[in-house]
Amino acid sequence: MGSKKKVHAFVRIKPTDDFAHEMIKYGDDNKTIDIHLNKDTRRGVVNNQQTDWSFRLDGVLHDASQDLVYETVAKDVVSQALDGYNGTIMCYGQTGAGKTYTMTGATENYKQRGILPRALQQVFRMIEERPTHAITVRVSYLEIYNESLFDLLSTLPYVGPSATPMTIVENPQGIFIKGLSVHLTSQEEDAFSLLFEGETNRIIAAHTLNKNSSRSHCIFTIYVEAHSRTLSDEKYITSKINLVDLAGSERVGKSGSEGRVLKEATYINKSLSFLEQAIIALGDQKRDHIPFRQCKLTHALKDSLGGNCNMVLVTNIYGEAAQLEETLSSLRFASRMKLVTTEPAVNEKYDAERMVKNLEKELALLKRELAVHNSLTNRPMVTYDPMDEVQIAEINSQVRRYLEGTLEEIDIINLRQIQEVFNQFRVVLSQQEQEVESALRRKYTLIDKNDFATIAAVQKAGLMDADGHLVGEADGQSFAFGIIPFSTKTGKKAKAKKTFKELSSSLRKEGAISPLSAKDLDVVSTSKTQLVPSAKEGDGKDMLSRDRETSSIEPPASSSPKEESRPPRPSTPPPRPLAFEDFKNERGSEINRIFKENKSILNERKKRASETTQRINAIKREIDVTKESLNFQKSLREKQGEYENKGVMIIDEEEFLLILKLKDLKKQYRSEYQDLRDLRAEIQYCQRLVDQCRQRLLMEFDIWYNESFVIPEDVQMALRLGSSIRPGMVPVQRIVSLGEDDQDKFSQLQQTVLPEAPDSIPFINAKVKTEQKQKYLKTMMGLQQAHRK
Ligand code: ADP
Ligand code: MG
Repeated sequence: MGSKKKVHAFVRIKPTDDFAHEMIKYGDDNKTIDIHLNKDTRRGVVNNQQTDWSFRLDGVLHDASQDLVYETVAKDVVSQALDGYNGTIMCYGQTGAGKTYTMTGATENYKQRGILPRALQQVFRMIEERPTHAITVRVSYLEIYNESLFDLLSTLPYVGPSATPMTIVENPQGIFIKGLSVHLTSQEEDAFSLLFEGETNRIIAAHTLNKNSSRSHCIFTIYVEAHSRTLSDEKYITSKINLVDLAGSERVGKSGSEGRVLKEATYINKSLSFLEQAIIALGDQKRDHIPFRQCKLTHALKDSLGGNCNMVLVTNIYGEAAQLEETLSSLRFASRMKLVTTEPAVNEKYDAERMVKNLEKELALLKRELAVHNSLTNRPMVTYDPMDEVQIAEINSQVRRYLEGTLEEIDIINLRQIQEVFNQFRVVLSQQEQEVESALRRKYTLIDKNDFATIAAVQKAGLMDADGHLVGEADGQSFAFGIIPFSTKTGKKAKAKKTFKELSSSLRKEGAISPLSAKDLDVVSTSKTQLVPSAKEGDGKDMLSRDRETSSIEPPASSSPKEESRPPRPSTPPPRPLAFEDFKNERGSEINRIFKENKSILNERKKRASETTQRINAIKREIDVTKESLNFQKSLREKQGEYENKGVMIIDEEEFLLILKLKDLKKQYRSEYQDLRDLRAEIQYCQRLVDQCRQRLLMEFDIWYNESFVIPEDVQMALRLGSSIRPGMVPVQRIVSLGEDDQDKFSQLQQTVLPEAPDSIPFINAKVKTEQKQKYLKTMMGLQQAHRK
């Protein structure tokens, strides 16, 4: 397998009483054939023209019986097909030289049957000898006439081209002819019937369509598929044997062809010369493109010429002197064919059904293995099947109790159970979230900006001034009433989901700021120095640690005890945006300062990185330009042949300078690139610092807000539903759970439009979008007006 082989080329001479003994001579080894042309026998032959040729082939078959021909030519190919190797046997030669006789033989005479029926016999005989395998045989019979495809085994009465023309299709498995019937044959007899039917169709077609059967190519294909009867064997092999009876190879013009005959002749000669081109290309090791698609013949035989198959050519020639010219041309074709290398390989495939069955068996075995293991380790009750509703409900209850604090821990049983626990965490938390939301919704109402009736009512009640500002609101940006951080928008829902993800992930791993740890929150709210994580010794850049020094915080001197800083609780909490401003001037001032500082460092680094990138690109461009001119110089030098005798290159000054410049540029490029890499690492680190600061800031604010202002009874109730969650936690989750994109938008807003009030982001976003839309409409209207004028 995998070893290279050459195409086997044989020549068969048709018996004749008029054999040209003086012109055709065989070698003693039965492999060479010498042709001698007597100059006088041919008119117009120039004196110095070649008169002697010698061809060395794989065998010269003269006076050979059909039996011997089969033994020599086909037996091995067929036998190897049963082992998974594709095989192709082709007969080539001028009309009447014996191609059909060799391939099909005389159908009325058993002894004179050709390669085709013998191959079928051998296949079935070998199947009988291999009881270890289930082998199926299929056959098809294709005729190519004037570049049209005909199915010689079509079950319909043969009337010519079928309604849906057949097409040649290529897929990863190889070539197949769409529309060509392929017949399963379970015994020799069926196969023969099909062959005879095909032969009859060939003759009928020749008569009814008035076509010359010697002008068509016929391809009989035997498809073999062998599955081992041992079920554990997942591989099976496939192969096909192509038996090709080519059209006559004689040249046109000789017999003065006209009209239809000429057209036919042109087609045959074209397809045969394309076949020859393909074969020449196949014989040339340096060629990687083989022109298979030039005609139907080579396209249909694409995976059967050369490649991974065993290939044999029989060249049929006349022994008469009169045909010597054609004989020579046929022998030339044979010797070219002999140069083609093939690399026969077994066609192995995997039986998916068997693989599944084997895996199922393996799975059952492993389950039993687990059961044994469990009983040995005294865990006999564990099952590994998918959970039912009762089991899932039990896990749901465990998770609830765990969150309430009545269950200390949840025992691990198996992987499926762990997955379900996490799943139920998500379910329970989303339920609690919804409960909180609906509790708040009952307490507060969102006022729609355009709902004038409601606004009027609110104004009447003295909760909103005439300009639409909420009482106590600085800029009238927000129309939300009270502390509602929610909206019905689905976007919020998505964010809530993310919160749970974070929550469950924080359940799993310990983060620096686990939102679930009340202890941690206490620490944060009292000791502000922990806000900026201290640098790991030795792993930071100089620049980085300096930045950190400037941004690290001393406890502010003015920091006063909680009780003093807390304002008296008003009956209505102030709007959060406003409160946030206060918070930043009060308890949050230090965090806010650090946040801003880190942020400005981050922005500065980003700017530097972008500048460095630009420089790198500029250098790269210059390198390219320099290289180009250097190449030009080089080619110029090579053209002029400016080499010194001793092989030392002489470079002129210009080229030398270019080389120096290139070297320098490359150095610059490397150094800039190193800088950029360092900067990127620094940016990543700074980004993390900024994110942490933001989270702390918001969290601190929320705690402060809830501590400072009244939280209504029913909200507290709702919050208590998730008893493991501290009051104030849920809003924190909502704020902290800004997505990555949101964070960018968030920082933008913080720098420009928005007073640092994260709750109004959805609102602001909507507003910005509406404004854009209005702007667009205005522009359009303006344009229309202008147009009308
Ligand atoms: P082709 O297919 O090349 O046009 P055929 O196979 O039809 O040629 O052969 C033409 C005639 O010569 C047929 O009648 C065939 O029986 C006969 N013939 C060809 N080769 C042999 C052979 N080796 N022995 C006996 N008869 C042959
Ligand atoms: Mg023929």
